[in-house]
Amino acid sequence: MIICKRIKDIEKQLVALRKEGKKVSFAPTMGALHSGHISLVKARQKAGWVTVCSIFVNPTQFNDKADFEKYPITIEGDIMKLIEAGCDILFLPTVAEMYPDGFENKKPVDFGFLAQTLEGEHRPGHFDGMAQIVEKLLRIVKPDTLYMGQKDYQQQLIVSKLIEKRKLPTKLIAYPTLREKDGLAMSSRNVRLDAHSRKVAVQLSKVLRASMQKVESNRLKKQPIDAAAIMNTAKAALAKHPEFEVEYYELRDAANLQPVTTIAPKQKVVALVAAKIGGVRLIDNMVG
Ligand code: AMP
Repeated sequence: MIICKRIKDIEKQLVALRKEGKKVSFAPTMGALHSGHISLVKARQKAGWVTVCSIFVNPTQFNDKADFEKYPITIEGDIMKLIEAGCDILFLPTVAEMYPDGFENKKPVDFGFLAQTLEGEHRPGHFDGMAQIVEKLLRIVKPDTLYMGQKDYQQQLIVSKLIEKRKLPTKLIAYPTLREKDGLAMSSRNVRLDAHSRKVAVQLSKVLRASMQKVESNRLKKQPIDAAAIMNTAKAALAKHPEFEVEYYELRDAANLQPVTTIAPKQKVVALVAAKIGGVRLIDNMVG
């Protein structure tokens, strides 16, 4: 695996590989890699394709300074995992390399409602910062395919819009969420959970699953589905665990995140949750 810290170095590598007719797939990450990230790296390994992973903890997408400062860094282990997964190029830039002229985004994309709701509401500025860095990375790597996790459901919808609005020559492929054996969505932040919080955290995926089972069973019975009733049941189940500080629990249209009242029989929906536990903010979702 080649490690590039400078933009000009990775661009040089990729120009040479493209001259050989190679296609490029890309998984951007913030490191502290787990099997979910590695699934994105492995997913792209079609014969002959070049696989690029980036590790960059992007300061502009953290609305909470403490969250940024406590973000886990495990670079040596990450490098070993990427080599094992068959990654070809790791892009590992510094903040100065990515933001030589400061953090200001002169021409942000307006994502409208999609970036104002849910995470956008609870983490002001997060999606602007995320889109800013993803656009920079896409313009450097120019991947044919970009792999992102469904774990960050709203993020992949916004990146899809970014690609469309900026007319970037990249195809986004959203990959399923990898989970621990008990169902907890894998996350770099999970290492910060103490033993008790880790035990309780599994309730997030349990409650999401219960909501989606309710949607499914009503669908099979061809009964109208009352979204508010499902959300209230879920919130009541989470409220039984005072350890949670729930920021939102919502059932939304899966295509545009608009609120739903009665779910139409063929309407795809997504249940999304964000909650803090033991000072760690976790998000998860399920689609059905
Ligand atoms: P992050 O390092 O948290 O910014 O995540 C980098 C990429 O990995 C994003 O596209 C995430 O959606 C994806 N990702 C994070 N957790 C998981 C998971 N449990 N399963 C699959 N993909 C994930």
